[in-house]
Amino acid sequence: MKIAFCSSEVFPYAKTGGLADVSGALPHALACEGAQVKVFMPLYKNIKPQKNFPGYGFTKKGDVEFFFIKNDNYFLRDALYGTPQGDYPDNLERFSFFSKQVLEILKKLKFSPDVIHSNDWQSSLVNMYCKTIYKNDNFFKNTKCVLTIHNLAYQGIFEKEKYPLLGLSWDCFNMQCLEFYGKINLLKGGIVFSDMVNTVSPTYAKQIQTPDYGCGLEGVLREKRERLCGILNAIDYQVWNPKIDTLIYKKFSSQDLENKAVNKKMFQKELGLKVDGNALLLGMVTRLAEQKGIDIVSESLDYLLKKHQVVILGVGDEKYHKILKKLAGKYKKSFSLNLKFDEAIAHRIYAACDCFLMPSRFEPCGLSQMISYKYATIPIVHHTGGLVDTVIDVHLKGGGFVFYKYSSDDLITSIERSHSLFKNKKEWDLLLKKVSRYNFSWEATAEKYMEMYKKS
Ligand code: ADP
Repeated sequence: MKIAFCSSEVFPYAKTGGLADVSGALPHALACEGAQVKVFMPLYKNIKPQKNFPGYGFTKKGDVEFFFIKNDNYFLRDALYGTPQGDYPDNLERFSFFSKQVLEILKKLKFSPDVIHSNDWQSSLVNMYCKTIYKNDNFFKNTKCVLTIHNLAYQGIFEKEKYPLLGLSWDCFNMQCLEFYGKINLLKGGIVFSDMVNTVSPTYAKQIQTPDYGCGLEGVLREKRERLCGILNAIDYQVWNPKIDTLIYKKFSSQDLENKAVNKKMFQKELGLKVDGNALLLGMVTRLAEQKGIDIVSESLDYLLKKHQVVILGVGDEKYHKILKKLAGKYKKSFSLNLKFDEAIAHRIYAACDCFLMPSRFEPCGLSQMISYKYATIPIVHHTGGLVDTVIDVHLKGGGFVFYKYSSDDLITSIERSHSLFKNKKEWDLLLKKVSRYNFSWEATAEKYMEMYKKS
């Protein structure tokens, strides 16, 4: 099976969140299933392809080929989509250019794909173009289009005035296609024009068909329900594995967890926190967005920081930068705030902390809870989306702490429950051993994607 995989971020080339992790791992897992996979992404600043051709760069890694679409005017910027002040105003132009180029380069390469697999609104247009502008092109005659929604809250909404820039006929600007309350909605267009749509966990696939989680697209998704499914994300254990991780202080594994305590002490020292094995160290690695529960975390910190230690790594809304900075000034010995994107600190948080906070208001899948397990760090999560599918409460013989009502009080209660168990060293060690053996590898997930491609 020939697959063209399109994504606006792919680890290790460019990353702002989980989409990059998935796009970095899934193509290799598909190749292991026997698929021929070409990955397409923009040529951002700092990416150095192995070879350069007019219009694109090329790198081969293992069985997968990567094509980096070049347009310095659009992609040679400091960030991928925008700054904390807001999105780049020409994002429609940037990703429409990207999407058209994918189809043109496929033709140039004479690689007529069985499946175009696009991800989120940024590459939705590849599917739309394939089904409209290229509809009668023999080259794509047998091509099916698949779209994965990694987060329904980001839809690529633009003013109607920009419509002519897309190069689509005005026939597509209606409620059945990509019009959304008088504006352009690229994700909606992607959903409508794709043969199969999936999201990244079974629970989120159900939730997005309801008004509470559908972000206005619940009707469109319900209509698509026969062609909509949920496939749980997985973790790349070549990247996230304390046994081989060169970014942490001391390696460890589920067979021998002793060095986890060493990581904790060294990290406390590096961060300027009190070095104390008995202090409960809570970590968070996240986009600082409303979605991630940073509002209820902020409300809880005054209480938590008097008793426990907290380390947060994240960038995002300026509003939360300000709130957190204020708290960091107040609790110097118990709060480490790192307002940046930093792979090394992220790995150290997973390795060193006792618990990982993931109180997301909603969560399509979430990778951090699965990464935490591997590093013997216990997730504390809100019962929503992919967190329902991956975290079962300790009370029910699972490996995490779950709270059901989205509130700072309930978050605090679940943290205090974890603290009670943490104080019982024997029980805690058993729990760490258990979760570090959980397996969320890509193999089974890749098989499910292959099945979905066949169904498309
Ligand atoms: P989302 O994709 O919604 O942001 P996920 O939990 O699916 O959330 O994936 C987040 C990924 O991004 C994880 O690999 C996490 O470690 C990483 N990440 C998020 N923020 C940062 C940051 N500030 N520095 C380093 N890694 C980060």
